[in-house]
Amino acid sequence: MRSYTPTVIRRSDPARVEIEWSDGAVSVYTPAELRGLCPCAQCVDEISGRRTNDPASVPSDLRQSDLHMIGNYAISMRFSDGHHTGIYTFPYLRENAPEKRDPAGGSPSSEAGRAAPDSGGRASPGAGRPAQG
Ligand SMILES: [Zn+2]
Repeated sequence: MRSYTPTVIRRSDPARVEIEWSDGAVSVYTPAELRGLCPCAQCVDEISGRRTNDPASVPSDLRQSDLHMIGNYAISMRFSDGHHTGIYTFPYLRENAPEKRDPAGGSPSSEAGRAAPDSGGRASPGAGRPAQG
């Protein structure tokens, strides 16, 4: 079981929200992305679970303001279109982070020149030692 805990939430730029997670990952969202993810009852039908707002209709230049914590498990904010009822839990944010450009696919490491530790004559280790006494 993984816990999604943010260590830093940057919201000083109204055109983006940046979350730094406890495992070192960083997720950057635009307000439009967050608006499109909005899980509130106005945006998602509670019965069917179907999204009733169209993320494609969200203006890309949407701004956020008044971002604040809900308890210690979620954030909420006000969008420049007036919408402010969305509560974004941290696992939800993490799972929907736009950073899908993960490097997990191809392993690039052919680490050319992995320095072979000792190949015969090693340089004297105590070369630069200060004279004692
Ligand atoms: Zn909503």
